[in-house]
Amino acid sequence: MPRSLPGAGLLAWLQRSALELLAGRIEISALSLVVLVVFYLATTQNFALAHAVVNSLPSPFTAQEWRIVGSVAITLVNLLFLMLVPFSAPRVVKPLAIAMLLTAAGCSYFMDTFGAVIDKSMIQNVARTDAHEAGDLLRGWFWLHMAVFGLLPAAIVQRLRVRRENAWPALARRAGLVLGILVLQLAVLGLQYNALSFWGRNHREIRLLINPFAPVNAAIRYVGSQLPKGRQKPLQLIAADAVLAAPARERPLLVVWAVGETARAENFELNGYHRPTNAALSKVPDLVNYENASSCGTATAVSVPCMFSGMKRAQYKESRAERQENLLDVFARLHLGVQWWDNNSGCQGVCKRIESVRLDNANDPAYCDANGCKDGILLKGLDDAMPAAGAAKLLVLHMQGSHGPAYFKRYPESARVFTPDCRDENVQRCSREEVVNAYDNTLAYSDSVLAELIARLRQRQDVDSVVIYVSDHGESLGENGVYLHGLPYSIAPSQQTHVPLMAWFSDGARRSLGVDLACVQRGAEAPVSQDNLFHTVLGLFSVQTSAYEKDEDLFASCRKAAPSLAGDAAPAPAGKARQG
Ligand SMILES: [Zn+2]
Repeated sequence: MPRSLPGAGLLAWLQRSALELLAGRIEISALSLVVLVVFYLATTQNFALAHAVVNSLPSPFTAQEWRIVGSVAITLVNLLFLMLVPFSAPRVVKPLAIAMLLTAAGCSYFMDTFGAVIDKSMIQNVARTDAHEAGDLLRGWFWLHMAVFGLLPAAIVQRLRVRRENAWPALARRAGLVLGILVLQLAVLGLQYNALSFWGRNHREIRLLINPFAPVNAAIRYVGSQLPKGRQKPLQLIAADAVLAAPARERPLLVVWAVGETARAENFELNGYHRPTNAALSKVPDLVNYENASSCGTATAVSVPCMFSGMKRAQYKESRAERQENLLDVFARLHLGVQWWDNNSGCQGVCKRIESVRLDNANDPAYCDANGCKDGILLKGLDDAMPAAGAAKLLVLHMQGSHGPAYFKRYPESARVFTPDCRDENVQRCSREEVVNAYDNTLAYSDSVLAELIARLRQRQDVDSVVIYVSDHGESLGENGVYLHGLPYSIAPSQQTHVPLMAWFSDGARRSLGVDLACVQRGAEAPVSQDNLFHTVLGLFSVQTSAYEKDEDLFASCRKAAPSLAGDAAPAPAGKARQG
């Protein structure tokens, strides 16, 4: 029996279709075209993304890794749909699809060949590259790649006829589709939150490989940054009327404000936690521990600028914080000593106009290795930071603290108190017990650093010193399936907003500031927050200004010989109750 060659039918069909296409007789709906383009982009133009995702995961894959791969794939398809569907009107969809195909092909060449990441600064580089340099990059292989992956599919799209649609039903279909995509994406993020949040934090850069979503996004942001802006407003002064109420000082005063990272109050032994996470600080006599302190935000980028801004949590606005001075600027204006030492990832703009030192990239083998520098490095130069005779100085130490999810990188071998501790970059592979052990080790190490800070200041009989320690925000460790931090404040669990806050005064500081420690201790049970710190620090330095609110100052009502300060409110108990 004669049989046709396998595939001959397909070949004939292809031939027929090609002729139909060339003749411009193939008609397609706009949404079908979008589906085809998305499928094409997802499967042929995102090799770099696929490669990076697979490389970022431990092998062999377990169910966890497959869930991440699946979530990324769905997210990729969803993002591509969201780029195209809203602009898929019949007259627009063809030029848009062609533009996306060509853009994706150009970008995939550089991503696949050079491992390039096309972000905003790369777009900037391209925009500033002259034709000669560009010619060096755009040689034979580039044009071949463009022809096969860009021009060919673009030409096919060009020959298609897009069916006309009735406007309103078409609009309704697209709205429904966008809604469906959003719901699906939220479901993926919600169901895979644990796997994705750990992995996503460690591999943020992977999102820059979503082609052509990331390059288009970068280009839009670049163009936006190049548009002429309205007149740049000058930096707004805060506490413009600030003066020093007590400029003359017998003994130098050093206030060390240690800003912690990701330390949650709940795991502090001093707050009743069942493990010895405060082995050292619990032995420090006269330490004031505020058991009931809340943060301004649930992320560094909110809490750190907020606590120095003078704005309370309820009014805090990032845009306003960027436009105006902060506490440190006021100090600089008053010629008080002020420095920021950073072992974290920077001061979030707070130290922009004052003297600051980055230690997180230091090359000191005693504290630093491939995992960065341990917080002990912040104490290294302490003796050289003492204020001169008669001077006063605020020194901010920005700690690495408990920065996750790779908690094990934050403490030295000697501080592995709780074992077994999670030592895997892919934290999701550790048991919860191992994660909590690693986290508690970060607290125990911070505890030893803070206790050493206090011990060293105590030895300096020649300087009056005060230590304030507060963490920027807390951390979730799997309670109700939530990990890490950064949830919207209104729904954030207490683990993310309840933070450790402590104060310590040297004997000399207690005398010179007239602080009644028993009174301060009595106030330490009341609810306090990062809102208090701006006013508390102004109070310690006797800065007189209408911006100072005495009833926000944690120590004001406990100062016996308090210098007269602005704000004539009646004495209030330290740490007035506030609703968090
Ligand atoms: Zn933080």
